Amino acid sequence: MSGESFGSTGPLPRSRRAAPRHRLILAGLLVGAAAGVTCNLLWPGAPWLDWLVVNIAQPIGQLFLRTLFMIVVPLVFVSLALGVAGLGDVRRLGRIGARTMGIFLFTTALATTLGLLLVNGIRPGAALDPGVKAALLAEYAEPAAEKVQAAAEGGLSLRTVVNLVPQNPVRAAADGDMLPLIFFALVFGVALTRIPASSAAPVLRLLEGVSQAVMALIGLAMRLAPLGVAALVFAVTARFGYGLLQSLGLYVSVVILGLAIHQFVAIPLLARLLAGTDPRSFFSRARAPMVTAFSTSSSNATLPTTMRTAEREFGVPPEISGFVLPLGATMNMNGTALFEGVTVLFLAQVFGIQLSLPTQVLVLGLTIVTAIGAAGVPSGSIPLLVIALEAVGVPGQSIGLILGVDRLLDMARTVPNVTGDLLTSLIVARQEGYQPAAHIAPAITVDVRVPMPGELPAAAPVATSVVNEQEVVVDH
Ligand code: ASP
Repeated sequence: MSGESFGSTGPLPRSRRAAPRHRLILAGLLVGAAAGVTCNLLWPGAPWLDWLVVNIAQPIGQLFLRTLFMIVVPLVFVSLALGVAGLGDVRRLGRIGARTMGIFLFTTALATTLGLLLVNGIRPGAALDPGVKAALLAEYAEPAAEKVQAAAEGGLSLRTVVNLVPQNPVRAAADGDMLPLIFFALVFGVALTRIPASSAAPVLRLLEGVSQAVMALIGLAMRLAPLGVAALVFAVTARFGYGLLQSLGLYVSVVILGLAIHQFVAIPLLARLLAGTDPRSFFSRARAPMVTAFSTSSSNATLPTTMRTAEREFGVPPEISGFVLPLGATMNMNGTALFEGVTVLFLAQVFGIQLSLPTQVLVLGLTIVTAIGAAGVPSGSIPLLVIALEAVGVPGQSIGLILGVDRLLDMARTVPNVTGDLLTSLIVARQEGYQPAAHIAPAITVDVRVPMPGELPAAAPVATSVVNEQEVVVDH
């Protein structure tokens, strides 16, 4: 595992090579976006551009995305099980769980409230041109109908709660069904604390080894990041219909403004007040997950990067990051909640439906619940957004109005989703008594068993030592 605690080993020198990696990823984002926007402006719809996107950019982007997704299932299982087992007793787990959920709910409610205030103040729906409305509804009728259908099939009900317990955890993992997988990992971790230490030890050592291997894999995947990020962003920007941005300009501006305020005002404020972290250093260290979230539009795909950043850059103890971050990737979506709140009210405004204050409070509650239930994948929140719309009397089909700009908004909202997770892990670590390290070196600790002569390995004392990253992790 990496550093025992939030800097308990004393401030260690920061990785000299971490900064260039971050800069390379950021450079990938900027180059991809600049190239995509330029091509789109100069040669819109050119066949060669299409060819370039389909045959070069998308395959490279997919390679990066799939590498990240490949890591997610083992990462979630191993880090949650180890995290929970590492927390020791169930009372501590309960306390940390309650704190984590409390922060998730608080930041999500804060984000939605901000969105609702903005959309009520600016009223982008009232300003929408009726011609644009009719044209968009007609153009996106088919995908909108698919989303409505998906919402009807996957609606929120008592079944959703029952389904949290997987009948078969392997199938849940194979289907990428995160909540049941998380449930299994949690109870497995708890179970490890309830069996004799001699039986738990070999399982924990195995999980520890897998965890280190997964971390090494993340290091490898991150090597692809600069190119992968550039390719993903290029593929979107080169083919995006910028005309749509104009038609829906006010709505898009309200969403982006809300996300920006949450990301660059609320989150750093909370980082300062509740985690004792300087906002500038927070953002400079959180760059890799932020850029990965933006380019992949997926909290799940970003989870490996977020875990690595929490542990390596912020020194969050693995038992805390291993518990908070996998939960956060699925359950904590600040940006999504804000986007949903704005969208429900925007569409209500477009259709001339007055939503009273109590109904808006209902919208607030619904967006929090649906943001918790949304999958951390691209457009994961759209089917649940349909449910929220229909619950307050706005036709689900109206989602067609915003589908054309969703790709872009998805990129933007996934950034606060992921940053909110990182923030929560810092706050929980602080609340648990760990002090934020000024700088954390990318060192990891491994258990070194020194079996005494004639002693069975399982009974040998475990010594922990810090080893240099390069010896174990294939990275940089
Ligand atoms: N793409 C978002 C995420 O993965 C979910 C959504 O809002 O659709 O966090």
